[in-house]
Amino acid sequence: MRSLSVVGLGPAGAGAAAAASRLGVKPVIYEAMEKPGLKPCGRGLPIVDGGLPVSIPRDSILRRIRGARMYVDGEFLFEMKGFLDGYIVDKTVMLEAIAVEAGGEIHYRAKYKPGSSTVRLPGGGEARVEQGVFAGGHPYYGGAKIAAVQWIMKTGPRSDPVGDMLEIHFDTELLGYAYIFPKEEGFIEVGIGGFATPRELRERLESFIHKRSDLRELERVKLEGARIAIGGLDLGVVDGLVKAGEAAGFVLPLTGEGIRPSLISGYEAASALIEGGSPLEKLRSLPIARAVSMQKRILDLVAGMSVEERRSLLKSLTPRAHAEIALGMFRKHILLKELARSPRALSLLGLVTRLI
Ligand SMILES: Cc1cc2nc3c(=O)[nH]c(=O)nc-3n(C[C@H](O)[C@H](O)[C@H](O)COP(=O)(O)OP(=O)(O)OC[C@H]3O[C@@H](n4cnc5c(N)ncnc54)[C@H](O)[C@@H]3O)c2cc1C
Repeated sequence: MRSLSVVGLGPAGAGAAAAASRLGVKPVIYEAMEKPGLKPCGRGLPIVDGGLPVSIPRDSILRRIRGARMYVDGEFLFEMKGFLDGYIVDKTVMLEAIAVEAGGEIHYRAKYKPGSSTVRLPGGGEARVEQGVFAGGHPYYGGAKIAAVQWIMKTGPRSDPVGDMLEIHFDTELLGYAYIFPKEEGFIEVGIGGFATPRELRERLESFIHKRSDLRELERVKLEGARIAIGGLDLGVVDGLVKAGEAAGFVLPLTGEGIRPSLISGYEAASALIEGGSPLEKLRSLPIARAVSMQKRILDLVAGMSVEERRSLLKSLTPRAHAEIALGMFRKHILLKELARSPRALSLLGLVTRLI
């Protein structure tokens, strides 16, 4: 194989391009928009054991994150420090740098027409797309999705409400959470995602902001939102191209974290295609695929609980157990030890703990 087609330059497309380059194959990338990584996103990228198959370009790092403050239904739970680390990244800068570093032939404003195996090129004409990775994101995902909306706000010279921490506010009725993420200096993102319509989410977000004296006076820059695939894996092909990233369900259903799972799945799908293995088998057997499936089981379980049971579960988990589940690590020796400290959580999670 001399070249590999990649449709979409989100995290999954960038991962596929990096793998192709590492294996001596030229990635040819078709991205519908004028820049990569434009999907609205909190841009949080945790540092996790096992890491990423590509290094994060230095100049794409906007902030270092050193933990999170957790709340449930307005009540402070705890501060998670020491085992939740990561970055807030400029996705556009990060993805473009990875694709350029991979020596990719990048076509922007080049939209793939599903069913036609062709891409319409911006200067006129079409390119034929045959063997490759399909990384077009959530519109091509066949499972359940939720919505998320966020305000980008300017903190200006005022003190930053979060600093180098994230704020996560679980909402047990919504089965979702509101969040405050720092961005580049002087800006924050305040968002919410969960099982409600975009309109209801906007109303809940408004009320969340209104209750906070440190948020309600801030200048609002932009309201944005998108869907998130939370229904677990949806492996398959689009016109013979192997789906990766959010199109294939590589998003952690409890947290909505999709950058890391998408990057890894794009990388592995491309590697398998080039090396001649079965890409679908490879994707199915990845640790991140197991993490998606485990979180999906927990989400289904929690969806069947009463609001009181959900609250009780969230409150009884230790900070370390929260991190272990949220990051999709599910390391047996850590999780079982942590759950032994919270019998209530152990009984509520029941069957799921037997699968760990
Ligand atoms: C509000 C919100 C906040 C989020 N916050 C976080 C977060 O903090 N951390 C995190 O890890 N995840 C977060 N996510 C999830 C994360 O953004 C996605 O899961 C991730 O971007 C998916 O990567 P992807 O490459 O599969 O798809 P995308 O990032 O959606 O990229 C797909 C690309 O394909 C292009 N494309 C689509 N169709 C075509 C076509 N026909 N032809 C050519 N190109 C096409 C698109 O223009 C796009 O650039 C958030 C999501 C939302 C909605």
